[in-house]
Amino acid sequence: MLEIGTNAHPSPHGNARYILLAKQKVLTLEQQFLFTLSDFHPTAQMRSVFVGKFEGLDLFVCSFPHTPKGFEEVGLRDMLFATDDRFFDILSRAHQLATWDADHQFCGRCGHPMTQKHDKEHAKLCQHCNTRHYPRISPCIIVSVRKGKQLLLARSFVMPEGRYSNIAGFVEAGETLEQAVRREVFEEVGVQIKNLEYRGSQPWSFPHQLMVGFFAEFDSGELTPAPDEIAEAGWWSFDDLPNIPNPTSISGQLILEHAKRIAAESSEQT
Ligand SMILES: [Zn+2]
Repeated sequence: MLEIGTNAHPSPHGNARYILLAKQKVLTLEQQFLFTLSDFHPTAQMRSVFVGKFEGLDLFVCSFPHTPKGFEEVGLRDMLFATDDRFFDILSRAHQLATWDADHQFCGRCGHPMTQKHDKEHAKLCQHCNTRHYPRISPCIIVSVRKGKQLLLARSFVMPEGRYSNIAGFVEAGETLEQAVRREVFEEVGVQIKNLEYRGSQPWSFPHQLMVGFFAEFDSGELTPAPDEIAEAGWWSFDDLPNIPNPTSISGQLILEHAKRIAAESSEQT
């Protein structure tokens, strides 16, 4: 279990665990990705950030400009899909904090180098203009829409052929989550929805989204995929789903849960 806490952030030390990154990839040795200080050689170019406490020990993420000899590089997506829930949490958080640290080496307002971190929270304080910079978290909605016993699934142009998923998109500035869900569904496939229901959320570190998941029901309109975004969209029977995202992701979870609900209703009716 990862404890985020608000105690003073320690500096790297011998009785701690380390996640190592290079060029955004997770470094592994014999499929392990949690290390002690004696497993690697800290360098002057290495950047480290305190992540929290994991199983009672301080956990740090360290980023190297190049992969140290002997380590293997594994993509974050592959790591997340191959791991269980507790490792999903620490890898997501470590990756997001390392991204924040790398992207905020200079103040975005005045351009001064930012060398001072807050001692109790993940914030960098510009000593020149006093602006505080926190890790960026970008909310994204994701929604599974049903119409009777069918689920709406779509394939964007960036997805492989034969793979279908939910409608998803970034929340705009000044928009509520509910408005974002309705807008994204209408923009991407041209239909109106009703009966929005919040289901849960998941940090998604590519690079700093927070996926906010909903269920919804079709209300009106004709499926009309947005020509520049959606390659295909359709209604799929709950018991005959195509290739969908891995259930480690909230996207896969929403689809499977929605299908399960429909299956339960159907068995009650018979
Ligand atoms: Zn500044």
